[in-house]
Amino acid sequence: MSNPLLAPFDTVPFSKIKNEHFKPAFIQAMDKARAEIDAITNTDEAPTFQNTIVALDFSGRQLDRISSVFFNLNSAETNEEIQKIAQEVSPLLSAFSNDITLNEALFNRIKTVFANKTSLDLTVEQETLLEKKYKSFSRNGANLSEGKKNRLREIDAALSKLKLKFGENILAETNTFEMLLSEESALKGLPEGEKDAAAQLAKSKNKDGWLITLDYPSYVPFMKYAENRELRKKLSLAFGSKGFHSNALDNQENVLKIVNLRHERAVLLGYRSHAHFVLEERMAETPEKVNEFLNELLEKAKPAAQREFKQLEDFAKELDAIDRLQKWDGSYYAEKLKQKLFNLDDEQLKPYFKLENVIAGVFKIAEKLFELQFEEVFNIEKYHKDVKTYRVTDLKGNLISVFYADFHPRSGKRGGAWMTSFKPQYQKDAINVRPHISNVCNFTKPTPSKPSLLTFNEVTTLFHEFGHALHGMLANTTYPSLSGTSVFWDFVELPSQVMENWCFEKEALELFAHHYKTGEVIPMQLVQKIKESATFHEGMATLRQLSFGLLDMSWHGADPSSIKDVKTFETKAFANTSLYPETPETCMSTAFSHIFQGGYSSGYYSYKWAEVLDADAFAYFKEKGIFNKEVATKFKEHILSKGGTDNPMELYKRFRGSEPKVEALLERAGLLDKKE
Ligand SMILES: [Zn+2]
Repeated sequence: MSNPLLAPFDTVPFSKIKNEHFKPAFIQAMDKARAEIDAITNTDEAPTFQNTIVALDFSGRQLDRISSVFFNLNSAETNEEIQKIAQEVSPLLSAFSNDITLNEALFNRIKTVFANKTSLDLTVEQETLLEKKYKSFSRNGANLSEGKKNRLREIDAALSKLKLKFGENILAETNTFEMLLSEESALKGLPEGEKDAAAQLAKSKNKDGWLITLDYPSYVPFMKYAENRELRKKLSLAFGSKGFHSNALDNQENVLKIVNLRHERAVLLGYRSHAHFVLEERMAETPEKVNEFLNELLEKAKPAAQREFKQLEDFAKELDAIDRLQKWDGSYYAEKLKQKLFNLDDEQLKPYFKLENVIAGVFKIAEKLFELQFEEVFNIEKYHKDVKTYRVTDLKGNLISVFYADFHPRSGKRGGAWMTSFKPQYQKDAINVRPHISNVCNFTKPTPSKPSLLTFNEVTTLFHEFGHALHGMLANTTYPSLSGTSVFWDFVELPSQVMENWCFEKEALELFAHHYKTGEVIPMQLVQKIKESATFHEGMATLRQLSFGLLDMSWHGADPSSIKDVKTFETKAFANTSLYPETPETCMSTAFSHIFQGGYSSGYYSYKWAEVLDADAFAYFKEKGIFNKEVATKFKEHILSKGGTDNPMELYKRFRGSEPKVEALLERAGLLDKKE
């Protein structure tokens, strides 16, 4: 009875929670949630929006809070015991959610409400909720006959095995390859630190010399700095041919099986293709729209990419008499050219980005734009002493959110940066429950003699995650499952990416980019360099991203049953986007984990999609002033506070007055036609 997780709490009582509290709390909260679902299905009342859809959305609140506390800790402050509990409770949680999706009585009630939706006089938010609940069942086969349901389960089982195998093969191929160099001269061009790392790696495997592998920390610097062209070629071909060696680790069959099973699954559920199925729940909506988007961007970015490629080829010719620039030359000469053009490194910038100043800056910007005030408070419990806690209020002092900030690495925290929440926002019984949002990053720790100074990349990361945090903090919806960042996948990066833009603006930098010793504001000529180097080779980078997006859409946008050869199919899909000479030894698809192992199938386009959204949104700010209240208020009202309560394109148009245009991105990236 003394389990603090099961007692009501507002901010999480971390000091009272012991690891042994989690499992019993999970089990009891799952029982409670099951009882709440039973109460929905066991009634004699006819199904209504309130007694079914709303009741379902508000069921399992306690389980939700316990889960967020537990999984947030497992990411930011874990230990072996917590990891063990995670392994124990994860199957229980998936069984729990399966029980819900397979609950026929529940689906029948939802279906009845859904069938009557036009007569229910629902608000847009309510209609969105109803649709979301219905789709979460129908897209998992709830409407199918028993026979088809069985086939769907077979497909899902086969797909999860194939995806696993696909990933295992790539991992094994990555681990099998080793390039052991016995002469130091073979590493010429590499910075000392990289050479040391290669020597260390060899030593750790009881080998003499220097070891280069296909892992990014080893592969990337070698391709960027190694002067030896033959070795770069060897490494590049090995990297590009993972899963393409006609051996036991070959992924060609797996690719064909995966795309065919995905297609069959989509058709079974009534969709024309896997892409049609996936995109139904995306802002882009259809494969036609995605292809149109990718091709429009391609047409407009290609001239710039070709110009950059020509410039790079000329540079390589001039420097080393390279006749035809190959895939294994790209990053090497690009790095050299970049050094020549910009000569900009992190150490020049870091003194202007002391962590405390950057935080104060991002808060100031949030105040100017959205009238938020951040006050550090010391009466909220935290899970580690390095975490900072803030009370976020509006100008009248009303609580908007609690904000946790956890910035430095330590053992027990995973790498990367993310936003999460300890408590969601929703409205119930006329009370607007305010959220508790958290940002977790891994920035360099201060030492007794030096404060934490961020690289420019870390500054944009901080702004990015803070943008996600604003989406959570300013949420103002009724139903928990539509609140904050619960939006379509290709819409969720708008608030985060748009915030990054302020890092490049004089007016914003003046607020916080002050030298940590002298207080001097960052010189504008440095800012100009940051901007220019940020768009260096943007045309080629864009073309590369588009080529992956188009390949993804080719695999998933139509019936794949007639595709016989992976490489032939891929070469055709790349026809419009390739700059380098074709290499028959390599294949992208057999190692394209994003779409064949991870969750990006029919979704790779969303990287560029999100960039267009944020560039177009920021162009509006630029037009009226980056601190313009009118634009900021529209952004708050139509985007940040609305979560997933409405169609994202409608929300966007209400903010911007029109659909996003790719020109905004081209302009920002310096890709619009320049007369030379
Ligand atoms: Zn993000």
